[in-house]
Amino acid sequence: PISPAGRSDLTHHLHPYTQLRQLEREGPLVIVRGDGVNVFDEHGNGYIEGMAGLWCASLGFSEKRLADAAYRQMTTLPYYHSFSGKVPGPVAALVDKLIEWAPVPMGRVLFANSGSEANDTAFKLVRYYNNARGRPLKKKIIARNKGYHGVTMAAASLSGLPMMHQHFDLPLPDVVRVSCPHFYQFGLPGETEAQFVDRLAQELEDTIQREGPETVAAFIAEPVQGAGGVVVPPAGYFAKVQAILKKHDILLIADEVITGFGRLGQPFGTQVFDLKPDMITVAKMLTSAYVPMSALYVSDQIYQAVADASAAVGVFGHGYTYSGHPLACAVALETLRIYEDDRIVDHVREVAPRLQDGLRKFASHPLVGQARGLGLIGALELAADPAQRKPFEPARGVGAYFVRRAQAHGLIVRVLGGDIIAFSPPLVITEAEIDAMLARTELALADTWEWVRTWR
Ligand code: PLP
Repeated sequence: PISPAGRSDLTHHLHPYTQLRQLEREGPLVIVRGDGVNVFDEHGNGYIEGMAGLWCASLGFSEKRLADAAYRQMTTLPYYHSFSGKVPGPVAALVDKLIEWAPVPMGRVLFANSGSEANDTAFKLVRYYNNARGRPLKKKIIARNKGYHGVTMAAASLSGLPMMHQHFDLPLPDVVRVSCPHFYQFGLPGETEAQFVDRLAQELEDTIQREGPETVAAFIAEPVQGAGGVVVPPAGYFAKVQAILKKHDILLIADEVITGFGRLGQPFGTQVFDLKPDMITVAKMLTSAYVPMSALYVSDQIYQAVADASAAVGVFGHGYTYSGHPLACAVALETLRIYEDDRIVDHVREVAPRLQDGLRKFASHPLVGQARGLGLIGALELAADPAQRKPFEPARGVGAYFVRRAQAHGLIVRVLGGDIIAFSPPLVITEAEIDAMLARTELALADTWEWVRTWR
């Protein structure tokens, strides 16, 4: 039976990223409270939040320091803006801290409210930068299949998932697509990982030549693709990509919306893969998701070009009412202080093997094609025939079935396209909590296997 709260929600709420007709039949799970890595529904059932919400609630669901910081800011200066030469006080402290955290030298930080907006801003700034430098043709952005960069018109265009384009008349022009570096799915029979990397590098070079290097402005990539399936790139992939970008004077935009602030056991994915980005987008764990905020780091070179060009037209014509919102700044600053005080990145490195080893133990399960991950992000890719890397028919909904069984056992995880089960718990998770997460995963796998055998 659907509860009264669920009924109200169903009547008037258009749910994002949801199978709407199925929701109408089943009703939503109404979450009302959080404590540590757990959340609780309206009936008092507890769940380990194995996804930290949407890869974001890094400090769990009851960090009092963040609530206190928010309260202090709300009762001091609840709102001010950064337009026309003003700035709310907390912005200054936050930008200092963000520049300290930057994985490579960065010139400036620009604020927005979501990962989508940060990437949208990057899309616009690529044009601004090249126009400022007298290269108006250089404005195409190369993005990858299965990339996820958000849902605004530009960010959805950069994203490489078909459901984000169908019916929306997207992508926009000037977005060019290349392959996803998921060797398990896209490696050819007999191809080694090194040959796969070479093939993708050649494809990138060929694509740039086909489009004309003078028209290609930037390449955008998540260090580890999240929503596209938790894709950890093969060794050497980014080194080869970056050499090609450099040769053609193409900017690198690192979308660190999931990987920024410790998820991979380094402060940023940029350090893990030795990237040299010109822009970096961050969101999610910037505030532990307690309030919406995103930011775009830009290199000093980009900043200088933008400042010069905007001088000619009067003002720099971009920014949001809530760019650098004081509440978000105060919470972000406190979040980063907690990361430092609690040595959160070290903690991730310490507990990550527990998750990664645990997931890899499931690799021999008859439902699992591949177990993978890095730091505190991981995935089980389910398969009809693991030996042949053959997926299930999507219509079977095997991943969705697994997620429902996990929920019944007190674990929230997420299914991504291709029956990939994603894990991305709060960074504060303990080894004992990881063990509990894995035990519930095992139960859900057993249930799913039993069900699959009824129709196979
Ligand atoms: N970039 C990446 C890598 C993401 O995972 C997401 C969201 O999941 C976004 C961008 C978009 O962020 P938002 O949903 O805050 O707009």
